[in-house]
Amino acid sequence: MTSTSTPPLENNIAIGPDGDIGPNVIIGPDVTIGIIGAGTMGSGIALVALFAGHRVILHDVVPVMLEQAKTYLEKFLTRKGQGDRMAKVQFTADIEDFAPATVIIEAALEDLPLKQDLFARLERICVPETLLTTNTSTLPVTAIASAVSTPARVAGFHFFNPAPILPLVEVVRGALTSQATLDFLVALATQMGKTPVVTRDTPGFIVNRVARPFYGEALRLLGENVATHAQIDWAVQLGGGFRMGPFRLMDLIGIDINAAAMKSMYEQTFGEPRYRPHWIQAQMTQAKRFGRKSGQGFYDYRTEGEESIPTPPEVGDNAGTLILSEGSYAPGLAALCEQAGYALVHHPVPEMSPLAGLVFNGKNEGLKDAVIQMDATLPPDVPLLCQCADAPLTEIATWMDYPETLVGFDGLFFCNGTLVTLVSTPFLTDAIRQAAENFVRSLGRIPLWIEDSPGLILPRILSMLINEAAFAVLEGVADADTVDLAMRLGVNYPRGLVEWGQEIGFGRVVAVLNHLQAEYGEDRYRACSLLRRWARNENLKNALK
Ligand code: NAD
Repeated sequence: MTSTSTPPLENNIAIGPDGDIGPNVIIGPDVTIGIIGAGTMGSGIALVALFAGHRVILHDVVPVMLEQAKTYLEKFLTRKGQGDRMAKVQFTADIEDFAPATVIIEAALEDLPLKQDLFARLERICVPETLLTTNTSTLPVTAIASAVSTPARVAGFHFFNPAPILPLVEVVRGALTSQATLDFLVALATQMGKTPVVTRDTPGFIVNRVARPFYGEALRLLGENVATHAQIDWAVQLGGGFRMGPFRLMDLIGIDINAAAMKSMYEQTFGEPRYRPHWIQAQMTQAKRFGRKSGQGFYDYRTEGEESIPTPPEVGDNAGTLILSEGSYAPGLAALCEQAGYALVHHPVPEMSPLAGLVFNGKNEGLKDAVIQMDATLPPDVPLLCQCADAPLTEIATWMDYPETLVGFDGLFFCNGTLVTLVSTPFLTDAIRQAAENFVRSLGRIPLWIEDSPGLILPRILSMLINEAAFAVLEGVADADTVDLAMRLGVNYPRGLVEWGQEIGFGRVVAVLNHLQAEYGEDRYRACSLLRRWARNENLKNALK
């Protein structure tokens, strides 16, 4: 159905000839939208609805919340020269006032019995055509819909915080949601200037599910004393190009809220180890260090001034020779070294005086041979920098006669950002440490030493994120393009995860996961079967080239 098929207009919504809404539903302004809860999300969604020209009935049981929402809406509408739209909002403490609404968006507390009770009441108050939606982040839409006898009209309508700014809306298809309900919500979100993505009703939907490892792996790294919370944030931000590190983001979301989401995911999946909550979250919550809102979380907002992030050094005025192996990890590193003024030799040559040896190989592509050859040729006072995203540094050291020279680096993200993560064995000498650090600085990168740990920081977090995206696609939550779009728009990831995995190479992502699984012996790190399939297809494609 298109706008030229002269559909009957009801509440300014184009309805198909059979009363069904149809796939190309057109929604004009002036729909009546009932919103339950005038808190952060309810008032934000009300603002979006008013800007889109709709009528809003905003309901809350706490009068002061309605007062605050009124002030908030007035302020932002007036600022945009649209103060007259305040005439389109009705503030009410009486849920019975929802009777004329076309669609209800429930944004009350994240509590299943409370939401079920509200939906049962809505069914009594509203006409059968009124769509009943919930903004829940983590609760099953199907469980909320079980409170009504007409679950076809119930769906998730999940906005992100801050609702007026973030463009994504997840339209969640409960087990019994009708296609007409989904079509209406997709059209309404689009008319409101948002980008809707339809997702299956599985725990965390797309964004809150796929983002889990961002927090979960960061917490484990902190719990294992691999680095401080600030260092992990720097590695993610400066090394991976994320807008915010996981600890800053947890502080912003609220550590208690984030912990509750993790717990809910864990329980809803009957103990999936990828979603196991971390004791640090529980402890921070017990200590009432909730993050920004309580003044203290991982960071202290009472005393802290401007966020201090290290700045990269200038590229040095370099000369000298580097010996490089032939591996495929750290793509772009050879060019980076050359641009920085170094001469490159691709095979170790005896009697040579290089500044450093660089091994790029992965474990499955001759890492051991490359290390043995380098070790046999390099003078014992020259650092051997070896990528170790998919292999234990301590095992690499056992292949060498001079393990004192070994420095590990993140071979997947060396060139991506301005920070490079380095690790050492306990045998590293001070002179080699200094030489390795100077070398990284000479390339215009910040060296960050962390404790030796499987997958370091970014390869571990990113591989687990890409794995989670693959699981979501495998389980039909959404297709790969939709998952990528949702992560870019919902949480501002710099790249879609499937696309990113393709660029890194799915085989390398699987290699990092296998390494993590071997080192930890945990199912948490098992690579998704679809990711393995993508990796094999990638191999096949390369072989056919
Ligand atoms: P909030 O605490 O800021 O607001 C909730 C509001 O609901 C409060 O004003 C409260 O008085 C009101 N309320 C509670 N019980 C009610 C009832 N029975 N009837 C009417 N009003 C009632 O919470 P929020 O952050 O706006 O979250 C609301 C919903 O949106 C939750 O389900 C949450 O999971 C979801 N959500 C939150 C975010 C976020 O980042 N805050 C993002 C997406 C989705």
